[in-house]
Amino acid sequence: MRARTKWLASGMAIAGGLLTLLPAHAAPSPSEARASAAFDAAAGDKAKLRLFLQAMPKGGDLHNHLWGAPYAEDFIAWAGEGGLCVSTATPPALIGGPCDGKAAVPAAGLARRDPALYNRVIDSLSVRNYDRGSDHAAASGHDQFFSTFERFAAAAVPNIGPMVAVTREYAAQDRVSYVESSANPNAMRAFAEREAGRWTGDFAKTYAAFAPGLPAMVEASRKEMDAALTEADKRLDCAQNSGTAGPCAVEVRFQPFVERAQPAGFVFAQMAAAFALVDADPRFVGVNIVNPEDHPVSLGDYALHMRMMKYLSGRYPKVPMALHAGELTLGLTPPRDLTFHISQAVTVAGAKRIGHGVDIAYEHDAPGLLKQMARDKVAVEINLTSNDVILGVKGADHPLSLYRQAGVPVVLSTDDEGVSRIDLTNEYVRAATEHGLRYADLKAMARDSLEYAFLPGKSLRGAAECAKPGAACDVFLNKNLKAAMQWRLEKDFEAFEATF
Ligand SMILES: [Zn+2]
Repeated sequence: MRARTKWLASGMAIAGGLLTLLPAHAAPSPSEARASAAFDAAAGDKAKLRLFLQAMPKGGDLHNHLWGAPYAEDFIAWAGEGGLCVSTATPPALIGGPCDGKAAVPAAGLARRDPALYNRVIDSLSVRNYDRGSDHAAASGHDQFFSTFERFAAAAVPNIGPMVAVTREYAAQDRVSYVESSANPNAMRAFAEREAGRWTGDFAKTYAAFAPGLPAMVEASRKEMDAALTEADKRLDCAQNSGTAGPCAVEVRFQPFVERAQPAGFVFAQMAAAFALVDADPRFVGVNIVNPEDHPVSLGDYALHMRMMKYLSGRYPKVPMALHAGELTLGLTPPRDLTFHISQAVTVAGAKRIGHGVDIAYEHDAPGLLKQMARDKVAVEINLTSNDVILGVKGADHPLSLYRQAGVPVVLSTDDEGVSRIDLTNEYVRAATEHGLRYADLKAMARDSLEYAFLPGKSLRGAAECAKPGAACDVFLNKNLKAAMQWRLEKDFEAFEATF
């Protein structure tokens, strides 16, 4: 964690004081009004909107997968560095060596040696061209999306550091200052594989059986992340490039996750490892759950997984959860599976944030659930492109407006920007063009992306210490990373709006 002194408040008054942090009550400053007018003037013109939104500060990307963030080109490059091969099968994939020269050719130098195959690999490791008649056009967006992960796994497993580096690079390019990345040290999976067999169906007994092994898993995970983060800093040359801009200034925290399509014993062991890791190491800030939600095991064990979360949350009460829930739509599963996932994630597991939440309108008592989420401030991470590609849900079919009208906090995020071939700016453009959101709406979402982040420390919202800049505020910002990041975002907004 880097020193925070660069965000000190002294002499850096925020226009309008803290009122600007309370959008509901604040009148826009003159520069904010000018920015808003410039946004409206660009609204009918996607290229102009892109230009505007590219430069707009966006706060955090709270739903970002470490394996999903790199582009295929990144994975192929790392495969080359690591001596891996490209299988020439259809569709091609990255595989371990040695390369026989026919069924498997070296990844190193592929781009210039065989551009045609290189391009087929990019299509295979992403959703590029999947719906435009490439050689595996028969795959649905859903199948193409999820099948990419196994095809680049060989280059992902040994490259946590490089993946963190490009995550920060892409975030900086998007004017994102904070990323919460779903990422597991390899030691976590090893623990789950080793301990899965202890499952008896009894949470307490099973936990007691493998608990003595948790500290060693935490220690191994810490060492892995130490090495990965050092490697990321080295790749970004952060010794030379520290400061308040660029990839080295992007804060990253991690969410260890559970693979919900695995057998129950594996899931429970991996979940316990995730909770233990967040509890022990401040670089890990919340627990998540991944894999296709419509996988037969994910569906069959959904309620069990939520009860496991509740049990472990009781053992680790300080550990928050951001859970993928409701990444489903009518037709993908029988209707009954659409009726309870978000509700159980909120009311049984106790999730602080929901990832996707696309099927909210199909939930039993959806109005009551929306009311509860608004009251308890359970934020929803909205992934517009991902929902379009995987579920075919977009535009008026998407529940973004429903959540907003119900007063549920929403934030825009990327999900898997590399696999989806997007960036966060693109998601802001979609929110504007497909959902009619205006500058003030997007700015409120950017602010909420830090407010609902699992960053350590108190929020700047309502902090009396920072009612005006000065020594008391400096002390507060130095103690509270969340508030410091929020302060930095306000300064970035001020500078951005001053350009209009
Ligand atoms: Zn996701």
